[in-house]
Amino acid sequence: MKFERKQFLEDVTKILSADFAVTLEEAGKKELYQAVSKAVMTEVFPDWQACKRQSGKRCGYFSAEFLMGRAIFNNLLSLGILEDVREALASVREDLNEFEEVEDAALGNGGLGRLAACYLESAASMDIPLDGYGIRYRYGLFRQTFENGYQKEEGDDWLKWGDPWSVRVEREAKIVRFADMDVLAVPYDMPIFGYRNGVVNTLRLWSSEPIRAFDFEMFDKMKGENKAVENFHATKICDVLYPNDNTMVGKMLRLRQQYFLVSASLQDIVTKLKAEGVDLHDLPKRYCFQLNDTHPVLAIPELIRILRAEGFSFEEAFGVAGRCFNFTNHTIMAEALERWDALALSDLIPSVYEQILACQNRLDEEAGGDSRFFIIREGTVHMANLAIYVSSKVNGVAEIHTNILKRETFRDWYERYPEKFVNITNGITPRRWLLLNNPRLAALIDGKIGSAWHTDLSRLSLLKPHLGDMLSDFKEIKGENKARLAAYIKEKEGVEIPAGFIFDVQIKRLHEYKRQLLNALSVLAYYFGVKDGTYRDLPPTAFIFGAKAAPGYYMAKAIIKFINEIANLVNGDKTVSDRMRVVFVQNYDVSYAEKIVCAADISEQISMAGMEASGTGNMKFMLNGTVTLGTLDGANVEICEEAGADNNYIFGATVDEVAKVKHGYAPEKLLEADPVLKRAVETLIDGTFPDEKGMLKRLYASLTTGYEPDRYLVLHDFADYMRVKTKLLYDYGTDEFFMKCLVNLASAGKFSSDRSVKDYADLIWHI
Ligand SMILES: *Cc1c(COP(=O)(O)O)cnc(C)c1O
Repeated sequence: MKFERKQFLEDVTKILSADFAVTLEEAGKKELYQAVSKAVMTEVFPDWQACKRQSGKRCGYFSAEFLMGRAIFNNLLSLGILEDVREALASVREDLNEFEEVEDAALGNGGLGRLAACYLESAASMDIPLDGYGIRYRYGLFRQTFENGYQKEEGDDWLKWGDPWSVRVEREAKIVRFADMDVLAVPYDMPIFGYRNGVVNTLRLWSSEPIRAFDFEMFDKMKGENKAVENFHATKICDVLYPNDNTMVGKMLRLRQQYFLVSASLQDIVTKLKAEGVDLHDLPKRYCFQLNDTHPVLAIPELIRILRAEGFSFEEAFGVAGRCFNFTNHTIMAEALERWDALALSDLIPSVYEQILACQNRLDEEAGGDSRFFIIREGTVHMANLAIYVSSKVNGVAEIHTNILKRETFRDWYERYPEKFVNITNGITPRRWLLLNNPRLAALIDGKIGSAWHTDLSRLSLLKPHLGDMLSDFKEIKGENKARLAAYIKEKEGVEIPAGFIFDVQIKRLHEYKRQLLNALSVLAYYFGVKDGTYRDLPPTAFIFGAKAAPGYYMAKAIIKFINEIANLVNGDKTVSDRMRVVFVQNYDVSYAEKIVCAADISEQISMAGMEASGTGNMKFMLNGTVTLGTLDGANVEICEEAGADNNYIFGATVDEVAKVKHGYAPEKLLEADPVLKRAVETLIDGTFPDEKGMLKRLYASLTTGYEPDRYLVLHDFADYMRVKTKLLYDYGTDEFFMKCLVNLASAGKFSSDRSVKDYADLIWHI
């Protein structure tokens, strides 16, 4: 985008006077933020319209979550005007950094939603016509604070700064019909800018509204009482994002959200194609759809329903759907695989349920009644099976994950339809996760190999001959990032972390399989070790955690409380203050991640092998020159392939070993055999920490008793974790160590989401 300072300031001034009746000098931060954003939006409108009107084949990325993060800086960077705007504003009054308080659209839980956001950005940057379709939740993922160490949740009013980066497109509203009510779906379009290439794709988020406000005639025909109820429900559908990560919640409101999203999106696309005069039999020539996990899988029967209403036979409609849909699986965890009660489904959306039944019948015929193949069984609809049966392609998100899908989770399906299964390893956008969050490191790289890597990350390998020359600058930049993070943490969390300490970081959703508990136990082991002399000379280390726990996930919340208690103990003990600090930052989100990732020395990726489908946090750290301390799980495996296992720190049971260890696993024997482990674990019950609610006691019980004690092998992997982590801490600081960091950076090319979306475009979408 061309930038003209005088024109820009005039535009901002005009918007301020028209919208808020203030001058540039008088405007408050919120007003200025809106005016700056709108001035840019006005400029890009022609490009956006041109892209929307293109007639080639497009892909719709259907996702219940888009974890977009803060838009303004990223958008200005993509348009190539970040520094121009910064300078223009500085010339009149405002430091652009003051916008750091504004919206951080958290319309997603974690990795899955952030992946969707990275893919949209990458597709626009690679000039791939990919549009996102999602839900405009009124409240995003809850805001987290700690009170006495316990997690507290508050509503996330992400619209309080306004929403200048969206446009309400009322004339393209659609009606979504449930058995008990009709709802208006109003689209809000967000532009997705390609990186300095003039491409503008669209994220269309649907908002639910009562039809009343829209259609007075229909309003008049309705009976008084129903009206009130209907209005209440209609607005409620999009009220709030379900704050669960990797768990299925069988709530009717969730089912309504899912159908609302896919019905509105498909009606929208079909309406447009019909208006263009396209024969719907040719739909697959114009559109394909990527289903981001099972949440939008109702799109399959919904499209079949729509086509049948257009006069298609079931077979014709099924054929079109089969050529349009593709499905990404994100997890093998049983508690996350979506299933819906068939009765509930048929009550809520009977005409859609009919199509699911028809798919089931077709499958029965095709599989000759082989009971391994089903969509509906014992009154339950299995969404993944529906997705696999109908879709052209099914993909896992890292090599190891796709192999597990083929070998175990969907083994029968794979044997029947091997050609459907492909792997597309996840990626992250290098614009947000290096250029934007770590501009000095990006500039250092530019100085060595030019800037073509911004859109071709494989070129980072060209750094390899220069790594030695980069060493001192790299250390200096990392040091500065650490000092900045330390100051931020001091301000936000009130915890002092010396910038000279090693920053050992674990940030991700709180889940037992991710094993923050394993990390916590190691911190206690170091603490006791420093005190009793075992680790007298422990390299000074700050153990940094960030994570939200689903509000109903008891064990996850207990782990937060435990770590906060450990932080109190360690930070309150002057005898260890030159050796260690512990902090659990509040409200971990995309913006916090940007600040932490560029300042980390150690990236903790310690899930039980087989459980983390890919991970993308691991890639963010690698790209910023951080070594991984991890298990051979998810994309860690490929990180080691790219950067070399000896440049990272790998420990613990492998997938195959996990299966063996689980056989006759006896965690209490491990406790008895390892006094260091025993001492750390027993702090959960020996009065070291106050436990007025009995949470820590239950955490202890989860490790030692019950049907499947220590389900995620925390105790089994503890000794090896300590061995490798200790080696890492003592390796830290040498040039040899920082070379490992740089080798990781130079080997991160594969993990660009540019590569991922191109793989999708080639292997799956054929665009
Ligand atoms: C990248 C990211 C995630 C995913 O992290 P993992 O370590 O892959 O689980 C979750 N939340 C936020 C805010 C992120 O930026």
